[in-house]
Amino acid sequence: MSLRKKMVLVSMGLFFLILTIFTLLALSISNVSVFKHEQKTVRETARLIQMNISEINAPLTQDNLTDYLQSNQVLDPIRQHTILTEGADFANSHSILHFLYANQTACLYNADKNLIFTTNLDENYQKLGPLNKLVTGSKNGQKGFVLNVPIYNKNKTAIIGYAKVFHSLEFYYNLKNKMILLLIGLEVITILVVLLIMYYSIGSFLKPIHSLHKLMRYIAQNPKDLHMRSDVHSGDEIEELSNIFNKMLDRIAEQNDLQQRFISDVSHELRTPVAIIMGHLDMLSRWGKNDPEILQESLEASRHEAHRMNLMINDMLESIGLKNQLSTSKEKTCSLETVIKMVVNNFKMVRPDFDYQLYIEKEPILAAISSQHFEQLLTILVDNATKYSSDHKIIQLSLTLSLDYAILIVKDYGIGIEKEDLNHIFERFYRTDKSRNRDIGSATGLGIGLSILNDLVTAYHCQLEVESEIHVGTKFIIKIPLVNKNEKI
Ligand code: ADP
Repeated sequence: MSLRKKMVLVSMGLFFLILTIFTLLALSISNVSVFKHEQKTVRETARLIQMNISEINAPLTQDNLTDYLQSNQVLDPIRQHTILTEGADFANSHSILHFLYANQTACLYNADKNLIFTTNLDENYQKLGPLNKLVTGSKNGQKGFVLNVPIYNKNKTAIIGYAKVFHSLEFYYNLKNKMILLLIGLEVITILVVLLIMYYSIGSFLKPIHSLHKLMRYIAQNPKDLHMRSDVHSGDEIEELSNIFNKMLDRIAEQNDLQQRFISDVSHELRTPVAIIMGHLDMLSRWGKNDPEILQESLEASRHEAHRMNLMINDMLESIGLKNQLSTSKEKTCSLETVIKMVVNNFKMVRPDFDYQLYIEKEPILAAISSQHFEQLLTILVDNATKYSSDHKIIQLSLTLSLDYAILIVKDYGIGIEKEDLNHIFERFYRTDKSRNRDIGSATGLGIGLSILNDLVTAYHCQLEVESEIHVGTKFIIKIPLVNKNEKI
C-alpha cells in the first residue's frame, strides 16, 4: 500500500473516530437533558391531577368523580374517541384532558385500584403499576414514561384513589431518529469532503518524496548513471534529505571516477613494464638460461621494471589516499616556516650535494592548509628541483607575505621545462621528453608528483604559477591563503 494511501487511511480513521465520539457525546448530552425535562413534566401533570382530584375528599367513585369534574367545569366537550371504561355516564367525557399535554394519557382508579376513568383505549395499559416510581413503559408500541400516584383526601389522612399518567416519548424518539440520520448524513458528507482534501494535500506533501524515491529507484536500477540529481525545493526536511542524497551521489560519482581513472591509469602504465618483463622471461626460457650475459641482462632489466612498477603502485596509492584525505581532512592551519625548515633539513640529509638557500620574510606565518599537506606539497617541489638539476645545484626557497596570501617560491637552476610542456606537467603520468631521456623517472618519479600538487592546490584554494626556461631553471610560485582571511576551505 502506498504511503499516501496509508496516511489518508490513518488520518481518516482518526477523523472518523473523533467525529463519531463528538456526535455520540452531543446526542447523549441532549438525550439526558430532554429526558430530565420530560420526567419533570410527567411529575408535574401527576401532581396537578392529585391536587385537583383530592378536592373530592371521599373515596373515588364514578359518581362523585363525574360530579366533581362537571361541577368544576373541567369536562371538555364531547369527543368520540374518548371513553370511560365503565358506565355510560362517562362515555363521552374527556374531562381530565384539561390537565394533560397532547402526548399524555391518564387513568383514575378508586381506592380498591379499580379503573373508573381513562383517556386511553388500550386495555394492556390500564393496569395500575408500582406507585410513585417513574418507569419507562410502552403503550401501543410507543415508548414513554409511566407514573402511578395515590390520590389523598384533603387532610392527607387517607387514600381516596389512584392516578396513572402515561407520557409518550414518540415525538422525542422520532426527533432523535431524524437527528441520528441527519448526523450520519452530515458525517458521511464531511468525511468525503475531508477525504478529498486529505488525499490531494497529502499527495502534494509527498510529491518531493515521490520524486526522490523515483530518482533513487532509477539509480538503483542504473548504478552507473550517477549524473542525475534530485531537484526538491520543498523548504523542509525532505529538501534537506534530497541535498544529503545529492552530496552522497557527488561523493560516489567522485569515488567512481577516481576508481575508473585509477584502473585505466594502472592498466595503461603497468602494461609496458609487464610486457618488458614478459619479453625477458620469454627470451630466458627459450635460449637465455645458459648464456650468463643474457641471463644477467634480463634479470637486471626485469628487476628494474619491477622496481618501476613498485614505485608506480606506491605513487598511485598515495594519490588515491590523498583524494580521500582531502575530503575528510579536519586540520586546516599550519605555520609555514616551521614546515619549510623541516623539509629543507630532511633534504639536506638525502641530497647534501645541493645548496639550499632559504629566505623567510616574517615569522610566524599561519596559512590555511594542513601541515601534512603543505609538507607533501613542498617535498614534491624540492624533490623535482633536485631531480631536474645537474650542473647548478642550488635551490632557493622564499616565503613572503602579500595582503591575503603567503607566497612560497621554489626556484632551481636545472634543465627547465619547454613552453608546450608547461600546460601538461600537472596531468597525471605526464613527463617531459627531457626527463624521460634522462631516465630520471625510473629511479624517482613517474609523473604523479605534480598532479598530487595540483590536487592539493585546488583543495586549499591556492594559486599556482610556473615560470621556466630551458637550461636556465624553473620557478614554482604558490600563493596560500592566510588563516584569518580565509578560514573556510
Ligand atoms: P615526476 O615524478 O616525473 O617528477 P612530476 O609530476 O613531479 O613527475 O613532474 C612532471 C614532469 O614535469 C616531470 O617529468 C618533469 O619533466 C617536469 N618537471 C617537474 N618539475 C620540474 C623541474 N623543477 N624542472 C624541470 N622539469 C620539471
